[in-house]
Amino acid sequence: MSFQVLGLAPKILQAVQEAGYTEPTPIQSAAIPPIIAGHDLIGIAQTGTGKTAAFTLPLLTKLAAAPAAAGPNRRTRVLILAPTRELVVQIEENIRAYAKHLPLTIATVFGGVGEQPQIRALRSNTDIVVACPGRLLDLLGRRHGDFSGLQFLVLDEADRMLDMGFLPSIRQIVRQLPKQRQTLMFSATLSKEIEVLTHEFQHAPKIVQIGRRANPAETVTQLVYEVPKHLKTALLVHLLKEPGMDMVLVFSRMKHAADRLARQLEQAGIRTATLHSNRSQNQRLRALQDFKSGAVRVLVATDIAARGIDVDGISHVVNYDFPMHVEDYVHRIGRTGRANQIGDAISFVTNEDHGELRALERFIGRGLVRKKAEGFNDTAAAPPYNPADEERRHPRHQQRGSRPPRHEQRGQQNSQRSAGQPRPPQAGRPQFGSRPQSGRPQAGGGQRPPPARGEASGNREGGNERHFPSTAPRSGGFRRRFGLR
Ligand code: AMP
Repeated sequence: MSFQVLGLAPKILQAVQEAGYTEPTPIQSAAIPPIIAGHDLIGIAQTGTGKTAAFTLPLLTKLAAAPAAAGPNRRTRVLILAPTRELVVQIEENIRAYAKHLPLTIATVFGGVGEQPQIRALRSNTDIVVACPGRLLDLLGRRHGDFSGLQFLVLDEADRMLDMGFLPSIRQIVRQLPKQRQTLMFSATLSKEIEVLTHEFQHAPKIVQIGRRANPAETVTQLVYEVPKHLKTALLVHLLKEPGMDMVLVFSRMKHAADRLARQLEQAGIRTATLHSNRSQNQRLRALQDFKSGAVRVLVATDIAARGIDVDGISHVVNYDFPMHVEDYVHRIGRTGRANQIGDAISFVTNEDHGELRALERFIGRGLVRKKAEGFNDTAAAPPYNPADEERRHPRHQQRGSRPPRHEQRGQQNSQRSAGQPRPPQAGRPQFGSRPQSGRPQAGGGQRPPPARGEASGNREGGNERHFPSTAPRSGGFRRRFGLR
């Protein structure tokens, strides 16, 4: 099928051609005509399938057909909500490319950066707003932005937004939108929760589903390596020596662990960058650029930070830490094998991960291939524990005066517990149902650094989102050393 038959505006066809797309992807062929016809739509498709263009191309066509009102009557006409700032930026970049021959204005809204430019953009009623729910709700609450003329709402990666606890924010935003609008929703999976959401926000939506239900991208070869926890890094270094491991995205559950792994890979002579929410926006962009340009071969990322990654040519995704949720697995491996390229997804599975692996295999409806790394000794013993390493890695407690080393604290906690006190939150493990940490310094804790922005602070977009379980890692080397979480 060609783009010509989909009913897109000529100026958009021109931009699509200039982007080098010769034919629409399946989700584009299926979604573009009903969107142009004015239907609400649920698109079930993973990232990497071309879903961003599937909703932006028809929306731009509709905007082009009805030029914006002039002067003070101009109103924002499209709102796109997405879970992370990376994804927001990526959607914006896509729109700018596809709308380059149209006189449209676009604004992005997300936390972690200054709000004044975003406020100015909202005030000027840009045609299209691409936003994370937390910061947008915050600004709307202060009466910035006017969505009274909104015609199109898109919820991108809706499953992910639900996972991240954005539903209350989304509800409050949608309450401020006109009821007469076209609503599009995209999700990697069609879960019960997504179905509930469509009843709430959509009217008689058409469903467009690409591939089987929740089927990870078909062009990705999925392999499992069983490995003891203490040998995961050694196995990764070993695998990275194999030919074809050209552009490798490695997933780590915790951002501190991501930093540590990157240091270890660098020590092994492998150029590595990291992407997680403790890093500034500039550092993240730099990491992505270095990865895209080939200046670094490996990018170690956390799930949240990697959400928006749009990098063609990723040869391998490595689940260094097995994903906590099957949806994360689907999203992770969607980073390779994009736009019909071939890619491999490698998952490291330790004894602790077998339950999750079984759940995943049930979810995707088949077993994954187990592989052994040639020439790798997976029975090697763990190196003996050396407290001096601990001291070298975490000398900070010395500067905190009376603060004892982490393992001593743990001893204290244990003795307190045995005295009848409740178990304290376990370091590094999400405390579901607990209060998210705010970004404010803790009372009396002047020497403790403020909680990091992003996923581990309970604030995944670095803004003011508060509906999220705290996952603040506090683990010292002792805990990590012995695999305690
Ligand atoms: P997405 O699923 O929206 O994240 O898109 C994945 C990648 O596919 C992006 O790099 C797009 O630029 C690219 N892409 C989208 N549509 C097409 C197409 N029709 N032909 C080739 N590449 C495409």
